[in-house]
Amino acid sequence: MTEGQAAASNAPPRALGGPEGDDVPTFGTAIVGTGFSGLGMAIQLARRGDRDFVVFERADDVGGTWRENHYPGCACDVPSHLYSFSFAPNPSWSRAYAPQGEILAYLRRCVRDFDLEPHLRLGEAVTRAVFDDATGWWELTTPKGRVRARDLVFGVGALSRPAMPDVPGRERFAGPSFHSAEWDESVDLRGKRVAVVGTGASAIQIVPAIAPEVGALKLFQRTAPWVLPRADRAYSEREKRRFARSPLRRRLHRARIYFTAELGALGMTVEPRLMEIAAWVGRRHLRRHIRDEALRAKVTPTLTPGCKRLLISDDYYPALARENVEVVTGGITEVDVEGVRTADGALHEVDAIIYATGFAVADFLTPVEVVGRGGLRLADAWRDGIEAHLGTTVSGFPNLYLLMGPNTGLGHNSMVFMIEAQIHHVLGLRDARARRGAQVVEPRPLAQRRYNTGLQARLDQTVWASGCSSWYLDANGKNATLWPGFTLEYWARTRRVDERAFVFERARVSASASRPAREERAS
Ligand code: NAP
Repeated sequence: MTEGQAAASNAPPRALGGPEGDDVPTFGTAIVGTGFSGLGMAIQLARRGDRDFVVFERADDVGGTWRENHYPGCACDVPSHLYSFSFAPNPSWSRAYAPQGEILAYLRRCVRDFDLEPHLRLGEAVTRAVFDDATGWWELTTPKGRVRARDLVFGVGALSRPAMPDVPGRERFAGPSFHSAEWDESVDLRGKRVAVVGTGASAIQIVPAIAPEVGALKLFQRTAPWVLPRADRAYSEREKRRFARSPLRRRLHRARIYFTAELGALGMTVEPRLMEIAAWVGRRHLRRHIRDEALRAKVTPTLTPGCKRLLISDDYYPALARENVEVVTGGITEVDVEGVRTADGALHEVDAIIYATGFAVADFLTPVEVVGRGGLRLADAWRDGIEAHLGTTVSGFPNLYLLMGPNTGLGHNSMVFMIEAQIHHVLGLRDARARRGAQVVEPRPLAQRRYNTGLQARLDQTVWASGCSSWYLDANGKNATLWPGFTLEYWARTRRVDERAFVFERARVSASASRPAREERAS
């Protein structure tokens, strides 16, 4: 990693006394989370020479979802040369799709290379954030005390709260059971009878990884997913050397992956009938690996491809075809002491249960109480569904920025690309605010409303609205999760700040009285 590092200053973060003359540590920016979003924001500040920031992380290590998820087979389903920061390239990715450990190591290396350690407050969860209308500062509460910050950036991801299925009797089960994102390494699955519940992106990685070593595996499938070939491969030493020697070669490789992935938006958001191509590829993939007609019928998907996340795997179908693997489709009615009972009354006796049942997406930011202007709680502002302007800022919550916020998720390309575009937007907003001599910025309510009305109208025409239930949709069927187009469009819309969509204001109590030079420098 070399690009941009020259710009990174080694100055330690400063925590000055508060603007109100108290001793509350005060920073230009507080960042919450150390996954790709939080670290990306921190790196971009550091690259600008702005070291006036603090990064909170509830866990004892960085890495976000790549720290939390360490189940067997965990890897990214976006090629690594694209699923990494453009400003922190890694020519040494071992494979097209790097495994979890390598991605986590990459993030840890980013922390070292951009000298972020002094900014980190690990094991310190932000529980409350309150905006002070008069001064324009955010005040954050953690179990260790209070901190004040001008800007508050959440990079907490939408997939961080494991969701357990709502089936009775889970607590009665006698053996070990855990969620895929809380993998219990102390449980030895070798030779055991194991139940895996769910057939989403996590399950299709777990099943092939554990099937060869468990005694018997029962996969409880509620909906058969579309699974396409992955075409993973190792990079040769020669290729890695060439990527290291030639940034142009590496960038072209990344661009090729990006534009190929971008084509997926055509079928998902412009012309859903194009998804027939994915269906054709998926059926071929299935026929190739599963010869047993009955099994093939069981796992043949019926929903429109792309409606739920399209999965990619070369070893999932071969794993299902193994002698020791059984796909169970009669819905789960309860969990009992000895195993899992299905609607036909059968008890499937197992020694361990793995719940690969996804995440509580609607609870975005739930563990933190965020209070904006006039005491408005974000949870109340979002009572009818989450929304933001450009997925990043929320009217009534000045100087608050949500990375991977509402409607910035993707079904077809790299989230890291979207995160970088969002960070660029955040920095653009701060620059515009500084140019105007203001301390506070937030989107105009009407701009936010119009933006979201437009998004929802477009989302109604996408493949995600074709009639399946998925974590993309909230309880009211609203898609507050995905971006309804090409990522290039999002990139273009976040390149330059449309200042007409925002209100820039001076804080009523002048912050310049307390921290004059510092505010200007941080901007
Ligand atoms: P998910 O996609 O939400 O899948 C959850 C699975 O559990 C679904 O198959 C669901 O069935 C099933 N399920 C839930 N309750 C059930 C019940 N009571 N009985 C039977 N089955 C039940 O969760 P995930 O696989 O953890 O993936 C979540 C997201 O994480 C992905 O979409 C992706 O964005 C991300 N992810 C990414 C990667 C990667 O490689 N980059 C890897 C893993 C995860 P239904 O389909 O019928 O609801």
